Amino acid sequence: MLIFDAHLDLAFNAVDWNRDLRMDLAEIRAQERILKLTDHGRGTGTVSFPELRKGGIGMGVGTLFARVEQQINHPFGCTTTEACYAVAMSHVNYYRAMEKSGWMRNIRTRGELQQHAIDFQTNPRHTPFGYVLSMECADAVLHPDNIREWYELGLRAIGLTHYGANRYGGGTRSEVGLSADAVPLLRNIEDLGIALDLTHLSDPSFWQVADRFNGRVLASHQNARKFCDWQRQFSDAQISFVIERKGVIGMSLDVAMLQPGWVRGVSTPEVTLLNVVENIDHICQLAGNAKNVGIGSDLDGGYGYEQTPTDLNTIADLHKIPELLSKRGYSTSDVEAVMHGNWLRFFSEVLPA
Ligand SMILES: [Zn+2]
Repeated sequence: MLIFDAHLDLAFNAVDWNRDLRMDLAEIRAQERILKLTDHGRGTGTVSFPELRKGGIGMGVGTLFARVEQQINHPFGCTTTEACYAVAMSHVNYYRAMEKSGWMRNIRTRGELQQHAIDFQTNPRHTPFGYVLSMECADAVLHPDNIREWYELGLRAIGLTHYGANRYGGGTRSEVGLSADAVPLLRNIEDLGIALDLTHLSDPSFWQVADRFNGRVLASHQNARKFCDWQRQFSDAQISFVIERKGVIGMSLDVAMLQPGWVRGVSTPEVTLLNVVENIDHICQLAGNAKNVGIGSDLDGGYGYEQTPTDLNTIADLHKIPELLSKRGYSTSDVEAVMHGNWLRFFSEVLPA
């Protein structure tokens, strides 16, 4: 079954972490162990192009990821907005290079989206990974009008914030709302028809966006607060808002978003893919149907299998989810909707003709 994964930091892994994603995962892991790389997530990667193909993950969202971080030498951070811009541009160029060598295909229009789904289902072994370009947080947008340059480069979805606050507002683990610069940026995002990713907004930012943004919204990698009660997850009111706006919520495989009390680097995973199914079912119960939930795995988003459900060793294990949904009583058409159909519908409505 075709799987659409709405959140993959492929360029971050390839450029910032120097991974050759064309290699088998076992080789990537071994290489990092030989090099004695000790950052969280090194030697335990779960994503490579061969592994995506093995799991039937034929398309998804590829991110540009750079954020301003005051602390010098933070593993994810840049000191200036200009450096974020440069890093995100390098991510665009990584994707371009992979397109040239036939491993990836950029999806910018509705027609390209539909054609890619057909190509993958007809010939999964020889179809490149199709990706919609997104930006995890807007730190690389130099000023509100600079969003146009990114749109021209193919950007079709964007989040405003990541962890902490940036120039556009408060993100995860922050209690502040939007800044003045967010107002013209949101207007430009709406005018250009870029989808707004609500993942990583603080609660005050979320509800301010809800009040003033009238474009299309999604939550690319986002679980329910009901099962893991801290601010990174959505409350039922937030989930219901996304449903009302005909958005889709992507289930994340990061155990920090599934297991209550998780402490990075200290806890060990106790949850399984059944906990992901629990989240899927919760959203379907709130919606009254299976149209607003999909997959947004966030695998290799700064961690590896030491921070994923115990029955997921590589991204190919996502293919176990359909069977778990069937056992839970979901019909074949609902399972297909969750695994790819909802994202295909959402992006076919959002992407330009
Ligand atoms: Zn994220």
